[in-house]
Amino acid sequence: MSIESNQETLGFQTEVRQLLDLMIHSLYSNKEIFLREMISNASDAADKLRFLALQDASLYEDEPDLRIRVEFDREQRTISVIDNGIGMSREEVIDHLGTIAKSGTSQFLASLTGDQARDSSLIGQFGVGFYSAFIVASKVEVTTRRAGAKREQGVRWISSGESDYSVATIDRPRRGTRVTLHLREGEDDFLDGWRLRSILHKYSDHISLPIVMDSEEKEKKGEETVNRATALWTRPRKEISEAEYQEFYKHVAHEAEDALAYSHNRVEGKVEYTSLLFIPARAPFDLWDRERRRGVKLYVRRIFIMDDAEQLLPPYLRFVRGIVDSADLPLNISREILQQDRTIDTIRSGCARKVVEMLVDMAEKEPEKYARFWKEFGRVMKEGVIDAPDKRAEIARLFRFSSTGTEGDAQTLSLQEYAGRLATDQKFIYYLTADNLAAARSSPHLEALRARNIEVLLLTDPVDEWVVMHLAEFEGLPLRSVAKGDLELGTEAETGAAPPSGEQNALIQRLRDALGDQVKDVRSSRRLTTSACCLVMEEQELSRHLQRILESTGQKVPQQKPVLEVNLSHALLGRVEQEPDPERFRKWAQLLFDQALLSEGGQLPDPAGFVQRLNALLLAAPR
Ligand code: ADP
Ligand code: MG
Repeated sequence: MSIESNQETLGFQTEVRQLLDLMIHSLYSNKEIFLREMISNASDAADKLRFLALQDASLYEDEPDLRIRVEFDREQRTISVIDNGIGMSREEVIDHLGTIAKSGTSQFLASLTGDQARDSSLIGQFGVGFYSAFIVASKVEVTTRRAGAKREQGVRWISSGESDYSVATIDRPRRGTRVTLHLREGEDDFLDGWRLRSILHKYSDHISLPIVMDSEEKEKKGEETVNRATALWTRPRKEISEAEYQEFYKHVAHEAEDALAYSHNRVEGKVEYTSLLFIPARAPFDLWDRERRRGVKLYVRRIFIMDDAEQLLPPYLRFVRGIVDSADLPLNISREILQQDRTIDTIRSGCARKVVEMLVDMAEKEPEKYARFWKEFGRVMKEGVIDAPDKRAEIARLFRFSSTGTEGDAQTLSLQEYAGRLATDQKFIYYLTADNLAAARSSPHLEALRARNIEVLLLTDPVDEWVVMHLAEFEGLPLRSVAKGDLELGTEAETGAAPPSGEQNALIQRLRDALGDQVKDVRSSRRLTTSACCLVMEEQELSRHLQRILESTGQKVPQQKPVLEVNLSHALLGRVEQEPDPERFRKWAQLLFDQALLSEGGQLPDPAGFVQRLNALLLAAPR
């Protein structure tokens, strides 16, 4: 019997309590995954020990062979997972099994939807696997001792998964961790050697440590290894089944759903490494955080070195999951060294190339799958025009957009398709940036192009502003905003025939005087057919949409004034022209400006003033 001391009862962090409640009452239709999570933690613990032991071999104590043992006891109705990995100190037990230290926990909890399949996949991603023990257990007992600590520094943790847990210091001669699950009523199916073996095969064959159980056969007393126990990526590609790859993916990515695609490569040459990279089917909840470490694990000669080695892929590919194992890196490599390591540069560009190849292939051969990918990760991929200037042309071929020629809100049009169906004499790729598709589709800026059947890309992701800035052209066709500059449409003859911007026009002059310094200029428009007016910027200036994005993020934006373009053949302009009263004319001018602002999705600086002016003018109209 162990001597217990210093026992205390502590409350779970609120987030843990919420999570436990979800686990027990609504999640995981697939109960058996608790075993996968326990094994995964045991395997991580072995990885950590192996890594630390590189510096300090004494951590192995007298047990250098790392392994995991699974036991069950029909009488006691328990299942135990035992490892001789790194173990935990008392503080670590309290930190890791009583709180969720990860940032974004409440954001995570808020993103749960109640849809079991989706939520269990999110739970997996969030890495809260330990608590899954309570899906099948009414009480969980953990005993552990940190490698290198004294035997009196063992810890016992017990909880029934409600609001609290107890911890006590115990005597524990061996290092590592034992997790014992006291099964709930009705979960006795799990107390079966074959059942447990089959679950272990299903989920844990690729774990590179041996998982042992007592032999089931009477004559063969003793232990046997029940998993394959080789690192999956070291096996030849043709011997690995699709199911094994997908299972491995779920393990490394903490995912419940299959990956969309994967690529397994052994690279020989200047730098030798193996990469196994997966493209997930769904975006994680924290995809938008560019600072978040990426999900590729680094191994050196099969020894786990670090999780989320952000140096292994550029930020725009941060959705990729998998592993890289290289023989050419030192075992004691740190994040700092990684940043300047030449070998890593080679690996990074090799991995990025593989991912892009995978996507090109998917886009070509499995367009529907690619559409799913684009919906989840398109906005991140677009960051590639900034992150990877050397690959811009190649990545741009993977982009998909909405346009005046596409239906619905899915982004389905590629630039190569756009370029393949240009109108006669079209010299540019035209685009419009807007806050949303509805606003884009009804924008006055599109009118003249619609009239000439010229397709316009409708760009509504904030990142699109940066895409058009950095891309500038695609296969020889410059990108052109339809909301900037003087649109030169069609042939030179047509352009020449357009009205001189009406500088001499008396109405235009009166509008300029009335609007004063709200506008840079007032011009007669070539782009409007049915609307009365719109705002445009000069070619080299920031777009109005980008100004709004920057302002909304609190950035100082250089004050650039728009040009008000008016459609002189519109009846409203005819009405305005006939206004003799200077005060009322000013109201009309302001109304034109305000409606141009509203129609591009802008905010009126003085909405109440707008309403008053509008009403005054409506009431002044003849009945
Ligand atoms: P994750 O594995 O994603 O970190 P878990 O909820 O599965 O999340 O585990 C929480 C933490 O508890 C782990 O990060 C680890 O620090 C600790 N832990 C769990 N099981 C073990 C174990 N068998 N040995 C050592 N530490 C463990
Ligand atoms: Mg885990």
